Amino acid sequence: MAHHKLTLPTKICPSCQRPFAWRKKWARDWDKVKFCSDRCRGVGETERP
Ligand SMILES: [Zn+2]
Repeated sequence: MAHHKLTLPTKICPSCQRPFAWRKKWARDWDKVKFCSDRCRGVGETERP
């Protein structure tokens, strides 16, 4: 089969526990990206008692 080894880096979203792949809009701060979406990020950061 063809060599198709170009895989994007992935992370697990701590909010929804789902894997998400690198996106071009995150090219600059992929290291800082923790959540798959703004929604999940909002959930993670607004977790207050
Ligand atoms: Zn998520």
